[in-house]
Amino acid sequence: MLVVQKYGGTSVGTLERIRAVAERALSRQREGDRVVVVVSAMAGETNRLIALANQLHAIGRHQQQATGTDGKGWVAPVKRDDPGFERELSQLVSTGEKVSAALLAMAIQDLGGEAVSLIGHQLGLVTSGSFTNARIVSIDAANIHAMLDAGSIVVCAGFQGLDEAGNVTTLGRGGSDTSAVAMAAAISADVCEILTDVDGVFTADPRLVPSARKLERISHEEMLELASLGSKVLQIRSVEFAKKFNVPVHVRSSLHLEEGTWIVPETPDMEAVLVAGVALDRDEAKVTLTNCPDVPGTIATVFTALGERGIVVDMIIQNASREGHTDVTFTVPQAELERTREALSGLAVASQPDVEILADPKIAKISIVGVGMRTHAGVAAKAFSILAREGVNIQMVSTSEIKVSVVVDEKYGELAVRMLHAGFGLEAGATRS
Ligand code: ASP
Ligand code: MG
Repeated sequence: MLVVQKYGGTSVGTLERIRAVAERALSRQREGDRVVVVVSAMAGETNRLIALANQLHAIGRHQQQATGTDGKGWVAPVKRDDPGFERELSQLVSTGEKVSAALLAMAIQDLGGEAVSLIGHQLGLVTSGSFTNARIVSIDAANIHAMLDAGSIVVCAGFQGLDEAGNVTTLGRGGSDTSAVAMAAAISADVCEILTDVDGVFTADPRLVPSARKLERISHEEMLELASLGSKVLQIRSVEFAKKFNVPVHVRSSLHLEEGTWIVPETPDMEAVLVAGVALDRDEAKVTLTNCPDVPGTIATVFTALGERGIVVDMIIQNASREGHTDVTFTVPQAELERTREALSGLAVASQPDVEILADPKIAKISIVGVGMRTHAGVAAKAFSILAREGVNIQMVSTSEIKVSVVVDEKYGELAVRMLHAGFGLEAGATRS
């Protein structure tokens, strides 16, 4: 069997942990498998490096020391739209993975195994797009196969590639997941194991819902929805890759050998369960434009202004018109709220007498996800009734084929997750096995 194992930052967070990873990879090889390992930077390292860049930038501008993170996990304020800065930022943060890859290869050698680490240009991983949010175009599989044939464990630095011009690029926060799944697809691995500090994918975040259960299997599509809904187990792009190239992904603990959760193509029996999981997203803010003129082009201007600034809008609701006017409500990442306000206040529509911009960061989005919704009616109604019984007011609703999302007051977010989790029987053993 050919396996790609990806170890996250906490799993390689200390030299002892790196040693344990080396033992695990080596024992897998000694069982007869061919093993490629993809590593993240040691825990905290990427944040440390980004903070250095931002502090330097702040000193130059006589600004306060930068703190906090933007919506994509970069420490704010990142200089945006400055290719020179972004290039060096990628150059800088990619070093974290180089360190852990080299240390892991050494640790395997220390244990008597054969290992070789590959970084940046040696990976043959070509990207396109921006420097710090690059997309994978191709991977040189032949090189990796040759090293495996020679008996090595191949240790790859995650998160990084090279663009056509030879610049070091990175794949966005959490990008080592995508490195690993893309690698698995490129070398036709039998499985991509994501070894992490949790036991798998759960029916809800176990820190919020103690009765949450580990799922044995989940479909790519459900996982895509859950990943995009703030269940931070995997970078969403890695799930897109897995779906597109049919890579079976096994999310499991790096601390023990128990099976975790398999992310696999959908099977007919999966539809028997209405809801596979409940997710909570506390990072969004709600914005309303009241009394907009109900004429063609109004919301086009609004969302074009946001799109031009790279602000990603999630839910959008426009009401039926009253006397030629309508309200538009939408959600954006909380970290983008100020930029959203700026963008809107510059628009002609905002200067009309009755138009008001209302913003509310104190919201939570709760979503239930399951392929069973496709074939079962009344799932949304049941969710609304569960929340009504608890006196939780629903502010916004959006649905897709396999998802119902509601926005509620932030203070009811956790309660809503627990009620929906219980109401759909997720704790009682109704989950898919
Ligand atoms: N080290 C990078 C990050 O923290 C990539 C990764 O860990 O997946 O985002
Ligand atoms: Mg991660």
